[in-house]
Amino acid sequence: MLYFRPLWGEVCVKIDLSKIEGEPIRFNETTGFDADRFDPTRVIGPMKVRLEGSVRSAGDNYFVDGHTHADGRLICSRCLEPVEWQMESSFDLEVALFEAAPRDPDFVLDAADLDVVYLEEPLLDLDELAIEQVELEMPIRVLCSEECAGLCPRCGSNRNLEGACRCEPEVDPRWAALGELAGRTPNDA
Ligand SMILES: [Zn+2]
Ligand SMILES: [Zn+2]
Repeated sequence: MLYFRPLWGEVCVKIDLSKIEGEPIRFNETTGFDADRFDPTRVIGPMKVRLEGSVRSAGDNYFVDGHTHADGRLICSRCLEPVEWQMESSFDLEVALFEAAPRDPDFVLDAADLDVVYLEEPLLDLDELAIEQVELEMPIRVLCSEECAGLCPRCGSNRNLEGACRCEPEVDPRWAALGELAGRTPNDA
């Protein structure tokens, strides 16, 4: 297991695949990721992610399997308030090195090859793996509650809060367009 400390940011953990002989390498790492490691319009950091599993070699390739547990906060799509989010998932991937990739120009990827992750060097970055697994499971849209009233389109107040604002409800633009049409005479067209 190799630990790299970049100029800034958290320590990243990589597994040197070239060191695997026979026995699989086990990992169990917990990292708190900043929101900007994900889509910061959807995540409020830190997102705590635990990645546990093992890597084993099989011929020229490697197999990685394990579980991901994430615990953090997402942003409500309507009112932009934080929403607690936990997820648990399992993964099962095949890893190959680029040099093992077929170089035949006529080579066509078939469905089975799509589960293979190709790496340029024999280093498996556990942070990247953790982030990918979380992104796969992250819902596109999350709501703080089904009844979330969202933000006022005029003043931006959170309409879930009592007495948020006194803005008049907006006229639906589709009705406004119809109203305009109705006011026209045939000569206007
Ligand atoms: Zn909401
Ligand atoms: Zn308002």
